[in-house]
Amino acid sequence: MAEIIDGKALAEDVVAKVKTETVRLTETGVTPGLAVVIVGEDPASQVYVASKSRRAKECGFHSVQHSLPEETGEEELVALVEELNADSAIHGILVQLPLPKHIDEGRIIQTIDPDKDVDGFHFINVGRLGTGELDSAFVPCTPAGAMLMLERVRGRDLSGLSAVVIGRSNIVGKPMANLLLAANATVTIAHSRTKDLPALARTADILVAAVGRPEMIRGDWVKPGATVIDVGINRIPAPEKGEGKTRLVGDVAFAEAKENAGAITPVPGGVGPMTIAMLMANTLTSAFRKAGLEPPAF
Ligand code: NAP
Repeated sequence: MAEIIDGKALAEDVVAKVKTETVRLTETGVTPGLAVVIVGEDPASQVYVASKSRRAKECGFHSVQHSLPEETGEEELVALVEELNADSAIHGILVQLPLPKHIDEGRIIQTIDPDKDVDGFHFINVGRLGTGELDSAFVPCTPAGAMLMLERVRGRDLSGLSAVVIGRSNIVGKPMANLLLAANATVTIAHSRTKDLPALARTADILVAAVGRPEMIRGDWVKPGATVIDVGINRIPAPEKGEGKTRLVGDVAFAEAKENAGAITPVPGGVGPMTIAMLMANTLTSAFRKAGLEPPAF
């Protein structure tokens, strides 16, 4: 039976460390500042943004939220980001995605000062990660959290281990593959055009699923003893809970996969909680860098 990697507990450990380090930094006269910007009324985004702002306050940060109406123009949003870039009390800027269709998301991301880009989506940070400059990069929060979970089981050095990442998005699959590579794993990235995915998955000592398809990865895709990191968050109908009810599942068929895996992350309670915790860690890192101090390691 697989070890279940508890993302909730690990996220609390990360946040506890952020709080302690925030107190230490604040004593030097610098309080970490996080600005979260949301445009429009998307309910899921509203929930994410509210919990990011709440966590930031809980960590002792200076927390600012800008909620803009759906019809906000691109120039107006660029102007706000530039204002936040120039604000010395702000160390991290997060623009919640997706943005309304009339706004060029890429332009907004590239307007964020790379040294305040705590989401790690700016080309400069993508390049830093891609070239292994991890000390100066901001690493996207979800893969950063996934790596921390993996580290608990496999340690920091993944030499000799094969990793298969299913999914090649810019926010999860690609940065995850780069992090695994930087940790010396032998990495394969799979996607919708990959042939015989089950056979490929079975070669993996570390299997990462970031697809967005409920329970696509079956138990017999998992090599015995493998570490399975399930990034997927999918809401599916749950008639057993009552009419119209839903529940969250990952991209991995958990009940089957845990029979083969050595360790596995659950959904919910796995990678999900780690994402916000790593956003706090990135903001703290930014504030330490700005203060000219060595950021704590997570
Ligand atoms: P995405 O941008 O939609 O990318 C999905 C990837 O999966 C694509 O590379 C796609 O291949 C691949 N794919 C789709 N169908 C496939 C198939 N049948 N076989 C193999 N590969 C397939 O998704 P994402 O943003 O990376 O998110 C992935 C999942 O993670 C979603 O469930 C999302 O909700 C979740 N997520 C969770 C967190 C968190 O906080 N835990 C954060 C972000 C995302 P192509 O490139 O060939 O189309």
